[in-house]
Amino acid sequence: MIGIFGGTFDPVHYGHLRAAVEARERLGLNHVRLLPAGEPPHRSGTFASAGHRLEMLRAAVEGRTDLKVDDREVRRAGRSYMSDTLTELRAEAGDTALLLMIGQDAANALDSWHDWRRLFELAHIVIMRRPDAVHACSERLAAEIGPRRVQGPEDLRQRPAGYVLPLEVTQLAISSTGIREMIAAGRSPAFLLPDAVIDHIDRSGNYREGVARS
Ligand code: ATP
Repeated sequence: MIGIFGGTFDPVHYGHLRAAVEARERLGLNHVRLLPAGEPPHRSGTFASAGHRLEMLRAAVEGRTDLKVDDREVRRAGRSYMSDTLTELRAEAGDTALLLMIGQDAANALDSWHDWRRLFELAHIVIMRRPDAVHACSERLAAEIGPRRVQGPEDLRQRPAGYVLPLEVTQLAISSTGIREMIAAGRSPAFLLPDAVIDHIDRSGNYREGVARS
């Protein structure tokens, strides 16, 4: 099985990293691929450039074998649609199960993603609990998810795509928004994200102005 964890990672923090480590262990994966979005479809702009977000992610996981960075969305021109990414990965993976890992807040809005019904044809979806994000979604999304829900990681090995698995992970109330706000206010984000990422932020000056790039 191949685990994919997409995000803006603006910047990457321990909420992302801890969830990825626990999901890898619980799902029995060799490693999890972290995929930074080049141009996230849901946002008017990011705060750090795609190149910087990629560098911060690489710095965060340097030397680890359980977490790897996949830069395909940054290299691809145009908006980073997960359905395009999964189509590419499916072509590479053959019949191997693909697992798209997302936090509960993102899962609640899955039906706003481009070509969202196709995501279920391309991958299993693993929904990780996140503090302050309750399970709340539209009726059409609930109708899609309900019959696909399975109980444990072993079920995901039965087919390449199409199931939904809720996963408990350690609840860390950390968000990129909170970290950006701290930095813009001149406060320290220490212990919310890896020192190597903080070093990158200090050197680049990212987030000090608190304004998104367009
Ligand atoms: P922002 O505050 O800018 O919206 P974020 O902290 O939500 O950023 P993203 O890069 O947007 O981070 O999130 C990527 C993925 O990681 C999403 O699926 C999101 O739900 C999940 N995620 C982010 N933070 C956590 C956390 N603390 N615990 C579990 N999942 C998380």
